[in-house]
Amino acid sequence: MLGKLYFIGAGPGDPELITVKGKRIISEADVIIYAGSLVNPEVLNCRKNGAVVYNSAEMNLDEVLKVELEALNKGLEVARVHTGDPAIYGAIQEQMDGLRAAGINEEQFEVIPGVSSFLATAAALKQEYTLPSISQTVIITRMEGRTPVPPKEKLASLAAHQATMCIFLSVQAIDKVMSTLKEGGYPGDTPVAIVSRASWPDQRIFRGTIDTIADILHKAGVVRQAMIVVGKVLDTDYELSKLYDSKFTTMFRKGTED
Ligand code: SAH
Repeated sequence: MLGKLYFIGAGPGDPELITVKGKRIISEADVIIYAGSLVNPEVLNCRKNGAVVYNSAEMNLDEVLKVELEALNKGLEVARVHTGDPAIYGAIQEQMDGLRAAGINEEQFEVIPGVSSFLATAAALKQEYTLPSISQTVIITRMEGRTPVPPKEKLASLAAHQATMCIFLSVQAIDKVMSTLKEGGYPGDTPVAIVSRASWPDQRIFRGTIDTIADILHKAGVVRQAMIVVGKVLDTDYELSKLYDSKFTTMFRKGTED
């Protein structure tokens, strides 16, 4: 029997925010490799007796691939558990390409999506990111860190659109993020919300503007695992959506105007 590997999005923290499918696969897996720095270990509580668990926070790419390949070659089922959704800053492409390079075929691995933290953040804020006439675009980005950001995607140029922005991996550089956004075109009074540990019991929410949020955050002390959300959607009057407009016809409902 050929082994099979599943890349699973574990969700943002709350162990109930993993998909039904992701949980089922974890409960059946022989080998589990999880990103210990961010994934809530409670999502592994459903594992079967005898499942072998590795924490990838302590491993490099070659070590992870070695465990994955050995398990696949033994015909085992592997759950590779990532935080949020693995497609967003999840470093799964290099694993998938590594598996392919080692001769693993496409049927032997699959991706199970998860709830990304930028969506858990919207839920915590009770906020829609796409309000009619305010912003219909969500930009997911990050400040440059050890991982470089291509020049055309610098925060300042993205800011020119004044769309809703969800900025990952950047709260440690909050002063720089805010000054760059202002430089790029957002007015200083643009609202900003920061959610730390969205969906965890110690979730915290900070609100301010481009001009004020850095101070607010500094006063709060160390803030980890946080999402920065910027945009006028956070506090504005907006047009009601066309989808539920009584005058508007949709595929499922006839409006009064047609
Ligand atoms: N794949 C993950 C992101 C991994 S990068 C996802 O889809 O969510 C790690 C970054 O994600 C953190 O620096 C932080 O910006 C964000 N993050 C992860 N979990 C979070 C949470 N519970 N609340 C707020 N931000 C979170």
